[in-house]
Amino acid sequence: MPKTILIAGGAGFLGSHLSDSYLAKGYKVIAVDNLSTGAIKNIEHLKSNPDFLFVEHDICAPLPSVIMDHELEIIANLASPASPPHYQRLALETLNVGSIGVQNLLELAKTKKARFFQASTSEVYGDPEIHPQPETYKGCVNSYGPRSMYDEAKRFAEAMIYVYHNKFKVDTAIVRIFNTYGPRMDRDDGRVVSNLIVQALAGQPLTIYGDGTQTRSFCYVSDLIRGFIALIESGEEGPINIGNDGEFTILELAEIVKELTKSKSEIIFKPLPGDDPLQRKPDITLAEKKLKWSPTVQLREGLLSTIEYFKS
Ligand code: NAD
Ligand code: UDP
Repeated sequence: MPKTILIAGGAGFLGSHLSDSYLAKGYKVIAVDNLSTGAIKNIEHLKSNPDFLFVEHDICAPLPSVIMDHELEIIANLASPASPPHYQRLALETLNVGSIGVQNLLELAKTKKARFFQASTSEVYGDPEIHPQPETYKGCVNSYGPRSMYDEAKRFAEAMIYVYHNKFKVDTAIVRIFNTYGPRMDRDDGRVVSNLIVQALAGQPLTIYGDGTQTRSFCYVSDLIRGFIALIESGEEGPINIGNDGEFTILELAEIVKELTKSKSEIIFKPLPGDDPLQRKPDITLAEKKLKWSPTVQLREGLLSTIEYFKS
């Protein structure tokens, strides 16, 4: 009998890639998604695969029997709005999915004796005072502000997982994901990589928020998914950072996108949103040591593939 993985958020950018990888490994994949920020087009190519099942459902509601009645070896929770414009628009939904939704899936993992995997985020470190950020850093997060519905939901989720792990002995794993990009990013979700590429290809001005000196570290999606699988298979509990430790200012990113797209677009500056972290770079020592994982795709190479995706 093939093993089964339930992927919550399976119609999203990362969830659809994780679905591809587990199908390729011979698993049955059940993708559950309410399509709030994901899209059927991300999983269209899987619909004729007999080992793939899509269930349109909000994980904050009681789970349907098609899921409850199934044997599950792994439950991977990627369900949550992820880009700042989306989680600010879907503010209550973001708080609910990080609390009620996560608890629903943890209860399921407890019942099924499944391994539970949570997509957490570098946002748990907030606007960090320590650079790069190791997993031991406790963060500098504003609990009352424009990013708090996301940051605090993800922190609450980690706390809930800690309780299920320690009190109910659920087998859990937490990955803290740093900015990831690649094919199937939503062109309209407002993240910097998709915005800049779409703008450059359309000959529109490239928008930089603030003066562009803030930094991010960009991980290509195939590297991230390889890290997910390494963590799931390792039995490690985490939290473990997965990200690319190459660090770029947003202005540098815009210049590289301009160069790679051969765009003549100008760069324009817009106000910096509140609580926007000034710097971010993962310390990936733990992933290298515990998972034997390190990123392999450099920014220019990953951007070229992403540009091809947006062109098509
Ligand atoms: P995405 O928006 O493409 O995917 C999230 C998916 O979750 C979407 O398909 C959405 O419809 C679904 N969803 C949201 N609420 C739901 C609910 N209540 N019930 C069922 N489905 C629901 O975003 P993504 O970039 O693929 O992110 C996936 C996960 O990884 C998220 O949890 C996000 O917080 C986390 N993450 C992503 C990044 C990144 O750079 N992409 C960075 C840090 C953390
Ligand atoms: N950003 C930008 N122009 C855009 C979109 C975002 O300059 O069109 C900035 C944003 O203010 C932040 C960085 O790019 O400093 C990364 O933004 P993103 O939304 O991709 O991710 P996050 O802020 O969650 O790391």
